[in-house]
Amino acid sequence: MPPILVTRPTLPPFEEYTALISKIWENRWLTNSGPLHQQLAGELKKYLNISNISLFTNGHSALEVAVHCTHLPKGSEVITTPYTFASTTHAIVRNGCKPVFCDISYDDYNIDTTKIEELITDNTSAILPVHVYGTPCHVDEITRIAKKHDLKVIYDAAHAFGVEIAGRSVSSFGDATMLSFHATKVFNTIEGGAVISPDKRITDAADQFKNFGMEGNDDYIDVGTNAKMSEFQAAMGVANLKYVDQNIGIRKILCDRYTELLQGVEGVRVLARPKNVKSNYAYYPILIEEEYELTRDQVCDKLAENEIYARKYFYPIVTEYSCYKGKSGFPNDSVAKDVSMKVICLPLYDTMDVSIVDKISALLAH
Ligand SMILES: *Cc1c(COP(=O)(O)O)cnc(C)c1O
Repeated sequence: MPPILVTRPTLPPFEEYTALISKIWENRWLTNSGPLHQQLAGELKKYLNISNISLFTNGHSALEVAVHCTHLPKGSEVITTPYTFASTTHAIVRNGCKPVFCDISYDDYNIDTTKIEELITDNTSAILPVHVYGTPCHVDEITRIAKKHDLKVIYDAAHAFGVEIAGRSVSSFGDATMLSFHATKVFNTIEGGAVISPDKRITDAADQFKNFGMEGNDDYIDVGTNAKMSEFQAAMGVANLKYVDQNIGIRKILCDRYTELLQGVEGVRVLARPKNVKSNYAYYPILIEEEYELTRDQVCDKLAENEIYARKYFYPIVTEYSCYKGKSGFPNDSVAKDVSMKVICLPLYDTMDVSIVDKISALLAH
């Protein structure tokens, strides 16, 4: 059997992709909001049931620009989670704001909403939570806190494509939401991302900022960047979107099988999926608890000996990166750190056979 990696990108049938890009050879429109870009934007609005979207060349640029377009004062504090990917924190810092780290909840590994208010100061301008592994944050509680203290809310929904809470898209909450369409995500455009907002002024500003801040043909009203999605990326999105429900359906079968085989294993903690949520089954994280006979790292080694390459994701937490270490003020003992020391994301992708789940689970059950 070939080595089993933690993920493999979803690809559409080759001919469906080439049929779409053949139009590019006819119209010579490669980037700058071409017909495929417009088609994808329209299809995503429908699929996600949202009103405004701005497409980006990657998720990180989308997040950076989302933060910019919500006009947080330079030097202000943004409450966020340390249990995330570097991108979340970098987007805050690169906008001249200060990340203030709030611990996570052991229930869902998302920001602990009971600990947000104690971190709010006169200098706080926003909350930037992450829907970790696609599990929605406590959005109602975050909205309540933000309203009470007059804060902006920007969600990192890089893991949460297609997730719904009580039938409502998770990307419809907050002042703005970022999605990632990176190759490793549930829905990909090779590299790609989006800013979504209920406020069209924010997505319009994002459209302008991702194109150097250009207004009309001759003026630049802001010191923008270049982060436009190309037609080749948009074509991959159009082709992949047709199969995303099928992809999520396969992921559900694999996740349910993992849960069936692992939830009784002592020392292995599986993630509970909340009721009322339509999940996208983006990841299958487990925690290796103290009761388990091996440590997390020993489990990873054992899997690797069997040519199964799981991933410690997220490990370490952001506050331990060299660029943030010692500057965050985040306490050493935290739920976030504890989870990061125990977590393993198991292999999960749409072309994976269920026999691989059985093999991995059997290795873990001993
Ligand atoms: C993937 C990811 C990003 C960045 O998205 P890119 O499209 O890779 O730039 C940001 N935040 C989280 C939580 C992610 O997983």
